[in-house]
Amino acid sequence: MSTHAANSIVPGHEKGKRKLVRRAAPDESQRIRHVVQGVFVALNVWIGAQFVAWVRWFERGGHGWAMSRPAGVEGWLPIAGLMNLKYLLVTGRAPAVHPAAMFLLIGFLLMSVLMKKAFCGWLCPVGTFSEMLWKAGQRVFGRNLEVPKWLDHQLRGLKYLLLGFFVFVIAWMPAEALKDFMAGPYGTIADVKMLDFFRGIGVVGIAVIGWLVLLSVFIKNLWCRYLCPYGVLMGLVSLVSPVKIRRDAEACIDCGKCSRACPSQLRVDKLVQIRSVECTACMACVASCPVENALQLALPPRKAETAVARWRGLVVRPPAVVAILAAIFLGVVLVARMTGHWQTHVPRDVYMQLVPHANEVSHPM
Ligand code: SF4
Ligand code: SF4
Repeated sequence: MSTHAANSIVPGHEKGKRKLVRRAAPDESQRIRHVVQGVFVALNVWIGAQFVAWVRWFERGGHGWAMSRPAGVEGWLPIAGLMNLKYLLVTGRAPAVHPAAMFLLIGFLLMSVLMKKAFCGWLCPVGTFSEMLWKAGQRVFGRNLEVPKWLDHQLRGLKYLLLGFFVFVIAWMPAEALKDFMAGPYGTIADVKMLDFFRGIGVVGIAVIGWLVLLSVFIKNLWCRYLCPYGVLMGLVSLVSPVKIRRDAEACIDCGKCSRACPSQLRVDKLVQIRSVECTACMACVASCPVENALQLALPPRKAETAVARWRGLVVRPPAVVAILAAIFLGVVLVARMTGHWQTHVPRDVYMQLVPHANEVSHPM
């Protein structure tokens, strides 16, 4: 029992329940989550800066201080990760080009198996940026736009279509074709092509990204909810996760604060557990709940009538979430490094031919 907790009346809103409940202790989950998000953004900035320096070295004709290529940049190549994963599953052989993309994908999928879609809520820099935008909108305008239910459901389908398209194409390609694609000029410098997209972004690209940013100020998690195929892949895998947001309907006073706090617009106050593919395990609902132990990120089974201690033993606290995410992330990187499958082994001469002329390398299909 928390030392901060104290018996108090916490009135319910929806059913007018008034009962003696224990007020929840101050919740640390959001502070901890924001620190983790900040660390992951910083890691990505560091990797990005290192990658730009590596590309510039080739563009300067190999003059100046040579930087090694940061394999972590392949975390931004999810399609390469999927292709390589299929190649591994079909042939039993690790891919030679962009293996880190596959190892990182495996790591993030493992996180989804154990910790719901925590990759999206705790690590993904795009999710972090998206969250900053809608929170800024909330501060400036007092609230965010509620997308009507019918439209929300329709729009959520977009990301399934995008994921379906990529999965279909990759499933259709034979393993050897995937290997050839990845080892070809386009596949080899797919990361450089991605960088060039942003370096040479045109009017259309700026307009599209500008609109997405603007809409994200008004609509909570716009990109993650409607457009991100990576997120929906994580969400589908997260359905098997034993960890879920669980509500004790007896302790709950139906105040509805959890639902209002949920960036995915889930009706947390109406369910006893959140199975949705949209739940990012962000714990914003838990943080907003005024009643001790009414809402938890927890393993099954739910609290037995007579076994309160058992319920508490199954709760997953924020430090445990951080420890599990860190263990998986560092674990896959370590395994990839120790087995020699972290770095892409492409001779420097090949990069010297391709990188400075990346804009001339077109997609083979
Ligand atoms: S249900 Fe809770 S943990 Fe899941 S997305 Fe909503 S606020 Fe986050
Ligand atoms: S679970 Fe949701 S509705 Fe119930 S008391 Fe907590 S915040 Fe209020």
